[in-house]
Amino acid sequence: MLKDLRELRRKHVSDRVLAAFRRILPDMSPTEKEAIDAGTVWWDAELFSGRPDWDRLLATPAPRLTDEEQAFLDGPVETLCAMCNDWEITHERYDLPPEVWQYIKDQGFLGMIIPKEYGGLGFSALAHSAVITKLSTRSNAAAVTVMVPNSLGPAELLLHFGTEEQKRHYLPRLARGQEIPCFALTSPEAGSDAAAIPDYGIVCKGEWQGQEVLGMRVTWDKRYITLGPVATLLGLAFRLYDPEGLLGKEEDLGITCALVPTGTPGVRIGRRHLPLNGAFQNGPNSGKDVFMPLDWIIGGPEYAGRGWMMLMTCLAAGRSISLPASSAGGAQALTRFTGAYARVRSQFKTPIGRLEGVEEALGRIAANAYLMEATRVMTAGAVDAGEKPSVISAIAKYHMTERARLCVNDAMDIHGGKGICLGPNNWVGRGYQVLPVGITVEGANILTRTLIIFGQGAIRCHPYVLREMRAAKEMTGEEASREFDEALWGHVAHTVGNGLRAFFHGLTRSAFASYPRDCAVETRHYYKHVSRLSAAFAFLADVSMLAMGGALKRKEKISGRLGDVLSMMYLVSATLKRYEDEGRLKEDLPLVRWAVRDALYHAQQAIDQVLSNSPVKPLATLLRFVLFPLGMPFRPPLDARNRECARIALEPGAARDRLTPLVFVSQDEKDATCVLEQAFEACVACEPIDKRLREAVRKGVVEPRPGEDLGEAAFEAGVIGEEDLASWQRKETLRRAVIKVDDFPQDYGRAEALQKLSAERGSFTSTAARAA
Ligand SMILES: Cc1cc2nc3c(=O)[nH]c(=O)nc-3n(C[C@H](O)[C@H](O)[C@H](O)COP(=O)(O)OP(=O)(O)OC[C@H]3O[C@@H](n4cnc5c(N)ncnc54)[C@H](O)[C@@H]3O)c2cc1C
Repeated sequence: MLKDLRELRRKHVSDRVLAAFRRILPDMSPTEKEAIDAGTVWWDAELFSGRPDWDRLLATPAPRLTDEEQAFLDGPVETLCAMCNDWEITHERYDLPPEVWQYIKDQGFLGMIIPKEYGGLGFSALAHSAVITKLSTRSNAAAVTVMVPNSLGPAELLLHFGTEEQKRHYLPRLARGQEIPCFALTSPEAGSDAAAIPDYGIVCKGEWQGQEVLGMRVTWDKRYITLGPVATLLGLAFRLYDPEGLLGKEEDLGITCALVPTGTPGVRIGRRHLPLNGAFQNGPNSGKDVFMPLDWIIGGPEYAGRGWMMLMTCLAAGRSISLPASSAGGAQALTRFTGAYARVRSQFKTPIGRLEGVEEALGRIAANAYLMEATRVMTAGAVDAGEKPSVISAIAKYHMTERARLCVNDAMDIHGGKGICLGPNNWVGRGYQVLPVGITVEGANILTRTLIIFGQGAIRCHPYVLREMRAAKEMTGEEASREFDEALWGHVAHTVGNGLRAFFHGLTRSAFASYPRDCAVETRHYYKHVSRLSAAFAFLADVSMLAMGGALKRKEKISGRLGDVLSMMYLVSATLKRYEDEGRLKEDLPLVRWAVRDALYHAQQAIDQVLSNSPVKPLATLLRFVLFPLGMPFRPPLDARNRECARIALEPGAARDRLTPLVFVSQDEKDATCVLEQAFEACVACEPIDKRLREAVRKGVVEPRPGEDLGEAAFEAGVIGEEDLASWQRKETLRRAVIKVDDFPQDYGRAEALQKLSAERGSFTSTAARAA
């Protein structure tokens, strides 16, 4: 009986919906399909389901470094940080010094992802990410130089797709730094739309090392290529054509990736761009009709035309690590240094960090640093667990770089002029300057937010949409009909279930929403709120897809906001997991509370904006009633929490150290950040003395005179003893060093520039004279 009803349902309802669905479902280009198929889904799918299984998340072991990895972090990484002088790198040399380059190569930094059997360090994603995080707290140029060979590029592609011969030849050389790799995809006409690269290769016969071989003649024009100017091995993406059918396949084979030694005749390489004075090597390269054998294709001739699939398959791992790690490092350094500066710098007789306006900005930086480290670790842990999380990596890349931007803006405001005047004593200005690089690379942020997170998430993470699409586009006849019927009715039940669940949790203020069996009582309500949000989001996503269909892809403002809801739930999950993994440290609770409330509030605002901007008003009203029957439940973080977060950054101690675990703290007394750290500790230690001095001045026991040392006067008046005087004077020396900004001779850098200009003019005049 039930079976008969199902058959009737299939024939009279599902098949009709399938026919209509086929008509409206836009065709997917092969590159879009490859992007959708690439990678895996993980916690994002749970959040998309409307019923996240929290026990599953908390049962995932806390990611940990091995002893060997920890030793590398404490040894070579610490040494490399100490070798880097950022001002020298970014202003004087515009490059890393030769000994730093050599150290990077010798210690295997360029081969962290290469397995030991090929001579690499064979590190976990967590260790790789920790190294980048720590380096980012010291030198952006060093971090980028190490990051790129370990991210999407020759090594990663070889590991996944290379022939054994290619692996045996290149991987040990890459691991030892005998080859410097770069990967060239972007061209002037194809930036974000990288699949549209006009660079091309033509399969043909040609002469190679004295013999006629089957090869390809490649023409390309690339720009923005990191490490390009110094690369010895160019990973090159181009579209391969076979007009004469020499490979016996179709004429347009598709995007292809090859490894080209940069010494090959015809390769033009070496010029550089200056990306916001970051000083890492970056530049254009090109070639015209450069002949190369077919076995330079990564994976050999069989992989001709499969380049886009290769890139998409490998993208998620690198994107989960590089920018999330450098952003987490940036936020930690900003927390540590800005907190210290805000304690050392006083205005209106008060450390500026205690002025409420500054406290607000500092508290934000601190809480974001906690959330970002949590996200870094959880995401890298997922990669180590075998995931290639395409949606999560986009969430981590976008939100970590955006939060780093918030942090550096806040830090700049707090530093005032000290952050603006560049020089060896400015630890924040270069970070501010170079930050947009992270926003732009590995998927520019606007595109990542509005096109990728929800667009890919809705298809990949949704339990039914991909099945429906496959049934419609890839299957036919009875098979398509049955598969679609099952997916469709599962989808209907899923949507209705989530709608009911969201309404119920709204009416009961999340009281009965799910939470993990073994979580801290003090964070339990946050899990419940995310469970409620997850049901609301899943319902809203389904209704939006139903209402807007394929047009939702172009409604980027809507899909961007839906992506924000998914992202906020991910960030909250990571924050709560960190709290559990680190043993529920009550001292860290203000950071957790601020970060979670902020994210929940943002998720709610995003839903509100989706509803406010819905093209179907009555539907939006109905949805608002279902999702928020008692009104909007979430409020922004409380000022009191913000104060507690700022206090953590302003007080030396375990909580501050835990919040900034990977910051390199220089031990060189000539280094500005070492002086800052010492001044910070001295200011804190001298606060009781400062208080006594202020009291003495207020009571008239000490009368400060212009130009006179207040400490000396207080000592002479018997207010403080000799030891206190010495501490106070040391603190004052350090404090003055910290508030000092750099200045330069009036003609600084000009003499050289003028000399160069006049030399150029001279050569222009003599050329003109010769021409005349
Ligand atoms: C310093 C630096 C280093 C780099 N390193 C490398 C490298 O080593 N190898 C390499 O191949 N490439 C590299 N790139 C390229 C980089 O990864 C980006 O792909 C590229 O910069 C984006 O192209 P574009 O700058 O031309 O921006 P455009 O593509 O012109 O984009 C401009 C703006 O439009 C937005 N946008 C574009 N399409 C959409 C859309 N559909 N919806 C919404 N918004 C959209 C973007 O988000 C961006 O905000 C590098 C770039 C820089 C700046």
